[in-house]
Amino acid sequence: MPEQAQQFTFQAEVQRLLDLVIHSLYTDKEIFLRELVSNASDAIDRLQFEALTNPELLPEGHEPKIRLVPDKERRTLTIEDDGIGMTRDEVVRNIGTIARSGTREALEQLKEKAEGAGQLIGQFGVGFYSSFMVAERVELVTRKAGTDEAVRWTSSGDGSFTVAEAQRDRPGTTITLHLKAVDTENGIEDFTDRWVLSRLVRQHADFITYPIVLPAEKADEVPEGETPEPEKPLNSMKPIWARPPAEVTKEEYADFYRQIAHDWSEPLETIHTRSEGLVEFQAVLFLPSRGGTELYYPGFKPSLRLYVKRMLVRENSEELLPRWLRWVRGAVDSPDLPLNVSREMLQSDRHVRQIRRALTRKVLDTLKRLLESERPKYEAFWRELGRAVKEGVEGDFENRDALVDLLLFGSSREAEALTTLAEYVERIPEGQADVWYLTGASREQMESSPALEAFRDRGWEVLYLTDPVDELVVQSVTEFRGKRLRSAAKGAVELDGAEKKEEGLAREKEFEPFLTSLQKRLDTWVKEVRLSGRLTRSPAVLVVAEHDYSPQLERLMSGGRRDAIRQRRILELNAAHPLVQGLRRRWDAGAEDPVVGDYAELLLGWSLLAEGSEPHDPVRFTQLVAGLMETALDAAPAAAPPAAEVASEPAGATGSSADAAGSVRSGGAVESPDPEAPKKEN
Ligand code: ADP
Repeated sequence: MPEQAQQFTFQAEVQRLLDLVIHSLYTDKEIFLRELVSNASDAIDRLQFEALTNPELLPEGHEPKIRLVPDKERRTLTIEDDGIGMTRDEVVRNIGTIARSGTREALEQLKEKAEGAGQLIGQFGVGFYSSFMVAERVELVTRKAGTDEAVRWTSSGDGSFTVAEAQRDRPGTTITLHLKAVDTENGIEDFTDRWVLSRLVRQHADFITYPIVLPAEKADEVPEGETPEPEKPLNSMKPIWARPPAEVTKEEYADFYRQIAHDWSEPLETIHTRSEGLVEFQAVLFLPSRGGTELYYPGFKPSLRLYVKRMLVRENSEELLPRWLRWVRGAVDSPDLPLNVSREMLQSDRHVRQIRRALTRKVLDTLKRLLESERPKYEAFWRELGRAVKEGVEGDFENRDALVDLLLFGSSREAEALTTLAEYVERIPEGQADVWYLTGASREQMESSPALEAFRDRGWEVLYLTDPVDELVVQSVTEFRGKRLRSAAKGAVELDGAEKKEEGLAREKEFEPFLTSLQKRLDTWVKEVRLSGRLTRSPAVLVVAEHDYSPQLERLMSGGRRDAIRQRRILELNAAHPLVQGLRRRWDAGAEDPVVGDYAELLLGWSLLAEGSEPHDPVRFTQLVAGLMETALDAAPAAAPPAAEVASEPAGATGSSADAAGSVRSGGAVESPDPEAPKKEN
């Protein structure tokens, strides 16, 4: 008894995608054929792969084909394959939901900006759903290899689909498109026309390795006097990697890329290579033009296919390239590997290791060439995928040096511009011995960091490391061409020559009791208070010891938790700053003066804010600031300059800080406001 058709609604995202597809955001409607033929080819690949361990899945004399059957009268086009087929559950899951995170993300983006959708959607594949560009109704009948039951899936793309029992005499999938009316102006050609179909196959699917055939022409379809066309493959079936690169068109590479990568943007660069040395292989690798967050998901699998004599043995091979190159897509074919390869075998195989080494070299050489001769393209690549490349610096010992040469960083030299370490070293002026960098959350934040004042005054370039993995990079790259890589926010910095050093030491000695007393006051958070060689304009800056974590790394590791244990830092003071000098005088007058302690805390909180962190105790900090403002107001001269004039003073002008210090001096401790004053809180 035939079961009743069961109705399902599409996942909301799928319906959204379908609406976009149906409302013709793609101009190239003919690409539906490429999508369906690719799916068919993948399905045959999978069946052959399964059959390696389960030979009875393949019928005797299995010669898999992809058949295109046009029907002019009914206006249908059927695409039929001898692939692995799908179970009922698989149909519902695969065709009705969106599994690919890239597609889901792109849809999210689409939701946010309505216009530009056409352009955006062009960046990701819609696979099977593209059939709705040319068909009013789509019917799919499929039977999974190794089972007897078939299912029929039908939908008009209007919110729901039905699934019912069906018949199919052998495993595989048949898709019938009930075609929309021909509308050449809108890209809908007559897809029941044999010539149109053969042209499209040659154009978009020539590299498919299984024969794509039209049924033999019937005698009554042929004009008098001509012989009917027999059934013969429309495609050359030669995989792209086996063809001479000079004969493969850019369009063909792009089609192949789309099939394996499921990415509709053009690849940035194509590497077509072969080797007949120690190990024989042919490979077509693509460097994508986009990165994408899915690369960083733990379960991410690379779109890199491994074939053995044109037989797919692994769809997402992780063994052919190091992990940091997981974004490289493509296909590798080698006759030197056994067909029956297990993961363990691949990992330990000598040939695989050789292929891996050769391919890694190839990619590195290509990146180097781009860096040297196509800089804008390389920078575009870097902005998308630099983060993954940096992982290699830390993890790929064998290629580390080559990788270090490929690194790009922003720097204080020019906004937006990226520099290599080599370029930085070339620009190093007289007197500068090291390569300096700063790590932080953003360029803006680092640009205003007090830690860079002395560097800026000298015109010394500082690299801005904004990427979390940069922390790992600088832990591993501590030297470049004989220059040390040093953090501008770590350790003691003495940028001046020897005689200034003497002077500094003398001053340090003289300041010591004062500094020690401040440190005691801040002991919970600060392990040392010392004079700074970094500051010229700001009163204070927080730094860490040479081998401590940078504040950026600490922030990342704490995951934003307020209660995370923080390492104690070093507070550096600018001895030439009026605020520090004023505080020093106040301390000289009475070491136990509570104002000195409050100011020490204020300086600490100020330094944290200046580097982009939060004060340790924001409530206490704001109370101190409010108290300070109050006392300053009380002490302010009656004829205050108009606000505009104050604002026009140079930023961080020392004068105002000195005034503030002076006014506190004349007032009481900031913590004890006038008891008569009305309560402002609550
Ligand atoms: P993609 O091919 O990009 O994965 P599709 O929407 O085209 O996305 O297909 C979704 C899934 O449906 C495929 O990954 C595959 O598992 C399954 N599928 C599609 N077409 C076929 C087919 N002809 N035979 C077997 N499975 C198929």
